[in-house]
Amino acid sequence: MESNQLLSVAEEFGCPLYVYDAAKIESQYNRLTNAFSKVEKLRINYAVKALSNLSVLKLLKKMGSGLDTVSIQEVQLGLHAGFAPDHIIYTPNGVSMDEIEEVAALGVQINIDNLSILEQFGAKHPNTPVCIRINPHVMAGGNTNISVGHIDSKFGISIHQLPHLLRIVENTKMHINGIHMHTGSDILDIEVFLYAAEILFDTAKHFKELDFIDFGSGFKVPYKKGDIETNVEELGKKLTKRFLAFEKEYGRELTLTFEPGKFLVSEAGFFLAKVNVVKQTTSTVFAGIDTGFNHLIRPMFYGSEHFIENISHPKGKERFYSVVGYICETDTFATNRRISEIKEGDILSFRNAGAYCFTMASNYNSRFKPAEVLWKDDKAHLIRQRETFEDILRNQVEIEL
Ligand SMILES: *Cc1c(COP(=O)(O)O)cnc(C)c1O
Repeated sequence: MESNQLLSVAEEFGCPLYVYDAAKIESQYNRLTNAFSKVEKLRINYAVKALSNLSVLKLLKKMGSGLDTVSIQEVQLGLHAGFAPDHIIYTPNGVSMDEIEEVAALGVQINIDNLSILEQFGAKHPNTPVCIRINPHVMAGGNTNISVGHIDSKFGISIHQLPHLLRIVENTKMHINGIHMHTGSDILDIEVFLYAAEILFDTAKHFKELDFIDFGSGFKVPYKKGDIETNVEELGKKLTKRFLAFEKEYGRELTLTFEPGKFLVSEAGFFLAKVNVVKQTTSTVFAGIDTGFNHLIRPMFYGSEHFIENISHPKGKERFYSVVGYICETDTFATNRRISEIKEGDILSFRNAGAYCFTMASNYNSRFKPAEVLWKDDKAHLIRQRETFEDILRNQVEIEL
């Protein structure tokens, strides 16, 4: 989206505001499916937790996407958005057996990542097909918060526990229809991904009734100029070749599945905020904006650097700024960033605000969560209202004191 389009949307709906560019979501989806066009059966299951607005889910559904969910509420959102249960996979970690059974009863594909749950589930529901989440113990990327395939990770069933796993499957006579890995959200190196894929192929040989192999996600997208991004075209070429060879060896048609979140929606999102104050101190110039980590927690939580532009005055002389929020504790979006000269009242646009931004927003400081807008066919569509004071009061029970 162009700066002037973003500016007009900010003027219409106010700040802080999340704006999503439908065309970018579509082009990322197509990029991925094109990279794997030689695979007969390809399924993309969008990871709902990245951005769970119903209109975004419906847009992805129209493109043919399925869903990857991590909670029963995400499953319910998906069903509400019109997804068929068999186009939803549920990959929880550390949830109760009750929740898993509830989701299975809805006809959704279950993905189990724990031997104890597998044993319990297999004993009670031997006829329900189950996918198994394997931990191949491959270190993907450098961020330990989001890297989930390493040896100490709580995710997945360790590849070293394969004999135990096979024993459980044999004893319960359960039907394993898929195997899965998700090595974390920071894959830099295609070779590392392919190495993990080999471990998954090796594991797959032990199961005779597989319908799909799910390679999870972890595609890296650029946050700023010069950032490395996953070359999905190269991954497509290399993994397709291995997948087709494996399929032959396995002797049965398989679906190749991915479950990207960030890759599909990160770059489609813009977070727009208004500058309340410009404050010159002895050491720096602060630009204080009308939002904080209550609305965009990634910089404080993960150290993410979102590219920031002054869309009100994009062509001014660049100066160094620290962009800070209004929360009464450290609340820094960027330090010493070169940004086109900022005046009070200007609108700043944060890039890469599609994934894990609105979905991680809170009401901290009793602020309203921002509105969300979908930009589609050159028009702005409001897809979530800004909260009101009613929302802050909702669910509070006032007692006589
Ligand atoms: C979060 C998650 C994803 C999506 O990860 P991205 O890095 O956003 O692509 C995929 N699969 C599972 C199981 C997840 O938990």
